[in-house]
Amino acid sequence: MSVTTQAFCKTMPLTGDSGETFEAAASHELKSPSANQAMDALEDTLIAQKHAFESEGFADYRSRIERLNTLYRLIDDHADELAEALNQDFGCRARAETEIAEIIGSLSSIRYLMRKLKRFMKPEKRRISIWFQPAKGKVEFRPLGVIGVMAPWNYSLHLTIAPLAAALAAGNRVMVKMSELTPQTSGVLKRLVNGAFPQDVIAIFDGGVEVAQSFSKLPFNHLLFTGSTRVGIEIAKAAAQNLTPVTLELSGKSPVVVGKYFDVEEAARRLVWGKSFNAGQTCVAPDYVFVPKEKLLEFTRAARAAAKQYYPDGVDTPSYTSIINKAHCQRVHALLEDAKVKGAEVLPLLDTDHEHLLSVNKIAPTLVLQPSEACRVFDEEIFGPVLPVFVYEELSEVIRQIRQNPDPLALYMFSHHQAEIDFLTRRVNAGNVAINDTLLEYLQNDLPFGGVGQSGMGKYHGKEGFEAFSNKQATLVQRGVGSFTGTKLLYPPYGKLSQWMMRLLRLMP
Ligand code: NAD
Repeated sequence: MSVTTQAFCKTMPLTGDSGETFEAAASHELKSPSANQAMDALEDTLIAQKHAFESEGFADYRSRIERLNTLYRLIDDHADELAEALNQDFGCRARAETEIAEIIGSLSSIRYLMRKLKRFMKPEKRRISIWFQPAKGKVEFRPLGVIGVMAPWNYSLHLTIAPLAAALAAGNRVMVKMSELTPQTSGVLKRLVNGAFPQDVIAIFDGGVEVAQSFSKLPFNHLLFTGSTRVGIEIAKAAAQNLTPVTLELSGKSPVVVGKYFDVEEAARRLVWGKSFNAGQTCVAPDYVFVPKEKLLEFTRAARAAAKQYYPDGVDTPSYTSIINKAHCQRVHALLEDAKVKGAEVLPLLDTDHEHLLSVNKIAPTLVLQPSEACRVFDEEIFGPVLPVFVYEELSEVIRQIRQNPDPLALYMFSHHQAEIDFLTRRVNAGNVAINDTLLEYLQNDLPFGGVGQSGMGKYHGKEGFEAFSNKQATLVQRGVGSFTGTKLLYPPYGKLSQWMMRLLRLMP
């Protein structure tokens, strides 16, 4: 297919959302001064990538491995530079967290694809009914063409590299739009990629929301978007104009349930880690927790002890990450203020000084005990180190409350009792589940990752990532001997033999 200029839609600013919520904080102020120039660059790159894709044809195993290997070397060799860029973007990004989630996360996802690629590319044999024998069936995984990847700011590197690598493994060309809230990281990655790949293989774009809007309107062969549900809806609308298939990795409130018999202190230690990692700015971060009623005090004490152990110098411990910017920091402070005003007990787990926190864009890990339905933390995605805690007596109450929110991206349960686990997991539909831990399900390369309902559409990671960026092309090969094939029994004129065969076909599996 060749690209025609009619296929492109010109930039049309979308009417913005002006609530003082997550969306308001995320309505990124930076505007590109030259939106039209950016649009031209996007269109030119797409045309160049489509042409290059067409002339290359089906990218073979070796060229895919070479591309993955180049990407791997680029991140491995410049890990420190990328980590420093991320640190500058956040103001303070725990080096260990960057290492685990961004560097190791990216490298291991590329290594996984390189290790599995031969097997992934292998056509799958499929069964052909005995009545159509000796025909054969197979499914081949063909590259789609040019893939668009749109990344958010919270794990700016990994959420760019993981889909990018999967798209390359599937034999595609890739255009990436990184978040305007991490300009240092985008700048470094763009420079490195430009030095290692021609623009018609990988092209990285930065720029503000208007560039993102133009990007989402390009007629890609597939578009993967990671970000908020609000923007995801806009992306789906824009992509629909070109019938571009989308994978949407979105947001939501991921609940945690501490089972009746689980060691509540251990649950608190694991939860405080999951909630404080990247200061809670993780799509699969535990959003709120249910604790057995009689164990609330034990839980809060253990949570405080865990926070103090992890961050001995309080929020100034260098391994405690700051909030990405002032607007987001104020947004999370406002959530706490709102909960206080509406009567919830707000319990910081580290000693804090409000002015100091604001000056360093940090928020201490904080519990909000039993907030009422009127509180914003009750139904807004928190995306910060704040954990509402609810108590329960019966698991059925918990399920009722979880189901008041849309299907979550992740569901966590701490329990060693299968019946308890089944009771919850069979009644709540979540994109991903982890038992007795948090976040780790995301880092598994062999597990598909993605939401369900409002928390997302489609999966990537694992074989599912490769498949998301492939056309599963079904092929039937007729192999009759001489001029005879079994199906000729079905040719007209439809005599007795055809009717006999049709009766048999009705019964065939
Ligand atoms: P966002 O939705 O504001 O932005 C994501 C991307 O969309 C950015 O590149 C941005 O430039 C672009 N964008 C912003 N407004 C746009 C518009 N109107 N039209 C087109 N593009 C637009 O998300 P964010 O603030 O960068 O990231 C945080 C959100 O992402 C949270 O809600 C979090 O839960 C979610 N998230 C989800 C996953 C996942 O895998 N499901 C992972 C990380 C983050």
